Amino acid sequence: MLLGSVEKQVKALVGKDKKDVRETLRQLKSLVAKKCAKLPLGDSAKAALPYDVDAQASSYLELINVGQAASWPTRRPKEDPYPAALDALTQSITLEEFTAATEALSSKARTNDPRPLSIMRNNRRGTMLLEDDKGRLFAWVNLHGQHNRFARDVVVTNMVNTRTGEIVNFKSKLGCVMPLECSQWHFQRFIKQGQLQSSKLIYRKEQFFIACTFEFVAADIECVTYLGIDRGIEEIASYAVITDDLGLLAQGSFEGATLRGYQRKKEAQAKETQRRKGESRVSWRAYADHIIHALANKIVDAALLYASQVVIEDLSAISQGPQHKRPKFRPRTNLSKVLNRAQYQKLANVLKYKLPAVGLPPPRLVRAAGTSITCNVCGYRDKENRQSQAPFVCLKCAHSENADLHAAKNIAAKHIYWREVGPKVKGKKLTDRHKFENWLAVRRQAVEVD
Ligand SMILES: [Zn+2]
Repeated sequence: MLLGSVEKQVKALVGKDKKDVRETLRQLKSLVAKKCAKLPLGDSAKAALPYDVDAQASSYLELINVGQAASWPTRRPKEDPYPAALDALTQSITLEEFTAATEALSSKARTNDPRPLSIMRNNRRGTMLLEDDKGRLFAWVNLHGQHNRFARDVVVTNMVNTRTGEIVNFKSKLGCVMPLECSQWHFQRFIKQGQLQSSKLIYRKEQFFIACTFEFVAADIECVTYLGIDRGIEEIASYAVITDDLGLLAQGSFEGATLRGYQRKKEAQAKETQRRKGESRVSWRAYADHIIHALANKIVDAALLYASQVVIEDLSAISQGPQHKRPKFRPRTNLSKVLNRAQYQKLANVLKYKLPAVGLPPPRLVRAAGTSITCNVCGYRDKENRQSQAPFVCLKCAHSENADLHAAKNIAAKHIYWREVGPKVKGKKLTDRHKFENWLAVRRQAVEVD
């Protein structure tokens, strides 16, 4: 009744003058407060409700007034959005993803399913999750030593250990069997798919909870292709998927215009506010991190699609030796990459976790030297092959291509090359015959003869 009349009054405020709106909402708030006073609610709920109503109404009106679709909140969402948010939480690897997922989780409406309360570090204490023949769940929890005054013989018969799938029969004085309740989501996602690692018994508000850690092992995917990634100049990164005989399966770029635009804007801002150091740097870093995780996710998707071994540049190799140092006064405008070294290193670190999480091997690193100036078609290596930043043009065979996409192919190829040639030249000086450009030319000829 009360909410119905509130709804009617709020809807009548759409498009009204701001002053009127504020006044009406103020009256509404005190009305709700008055009505609440009679309800059988706790004091804190009584105090909070008027503010809730006020906040909901204001945001509803704001949305409607700027032309966005907004609907009156229904009591319960038709579909439970919780599982999706929980999925995001369990799949999060980085702190950023974890934070975003927990934020999403706390903003979702809840149904009455039991939810996890704690995620914490546990030690192995021999907890077992057991299922009986009626599909009921129990936890065996080790609680005390066998000489403890609470020690009693407990007999467990004909239960299935959900970790090993074995039938369990035993007698012990060390703990007890507790009936367990969890949502269907937890049952399917964790108990059926994961392996219990450790657990902790928690007593809170006169209820027992059990916080468990699970391990998920993705089935290994056998890689049949190679996905090379080059730090892009125009786009954030370019990729190429190739086969063992250097055939091209796919190539493309991950969009980086937004990153670059943002970077420029931030740099301009930083110049203006040089005195207030630090401020813009932090937000820029957070934004760059976000972009890197999004990029890593796209790379994982592409690698899954083509069952690829991901190959990236080994940046540690470039920094070594004085011959690789950048001449002091050469402007870095032309060939500076959108992703700087630190960001690329971060991408590499993120991929080390994300790829194995889906069953793919971690990325392989190759030395990028020469990959941007060696022709992928004929193997001709010449600095002049790349006179300006965008196109690669081979001076020998005239092959021309977008330089980033071309370099991505070479990075993937370099992994195949080094896997074959590396063991042969171990500890020896690299002869011309064993150089990347020569290997490339020979491999191309071999493919043509076939
Ligand atoms: Zn060529």
